[in-house]
Amino acid sequence: MSALASPPAYDDGNIFAKILRGEIPCAKVFEDERTLAFMDVMPQGEGHTLVIPKARARTLLDIAPDALAGLIVQVQRVATAAKAAFSADGLTVFQFSEAAGGQTVFHLHFHVVPRFDGVPLRPHEGGMADAAVLKDHAARIAAALRG
Ligand code: AMP
Repeated sequence: MSALASPPAYDDGNIFAKILRGEIPCAKVFEDERTLAFMDVMPQGEGHTLVIPKARARTLLDIAPDALAGLIVQVQRVATAAKAAFSADGLTVFQFSEAAGGQTVFHLHFHVVPRFDGVPLRPHEGGMADAAVLKDHAARIAAALRG
């Protein structure tokens, strides 16, 4: 896409839109009126969580600034809980916009990955995790969110 071309429109068929509509399941960590957090099915590390707005935003550039401000606060909350739930040493938080930036699902999302000293990230879109493990990890982070 050239710099002068319009960005692609939001596509309601993307997989996170389907999760938001309840058409496909997720291992849910947290939900409020504007935000959903759930486990990444191909985690790059233990506790890899995705935080998404309910607003129809394709990339970081498509969300209203005040909605983004609220979303990043939820990213911080989930990151704090995920770090505590897994007794992690640190965190990696990342966001990809458009295919050229590495994005594969075209609904804005932030990745939150607990990190452990000396343990590298697994590859992006590596193997699928066991659903029961993801559910257990979601419950652990949800419990940490509740305090
Ligand atoms: P990105 O490259 O930032 O667009 O990453 C999309 C992420 O979504 C990848 O890490 C995938 O593992 C993850 N993913 C794809 N489908 C699902 C799904 N149904 N539920 C949870 N995570 C998913």
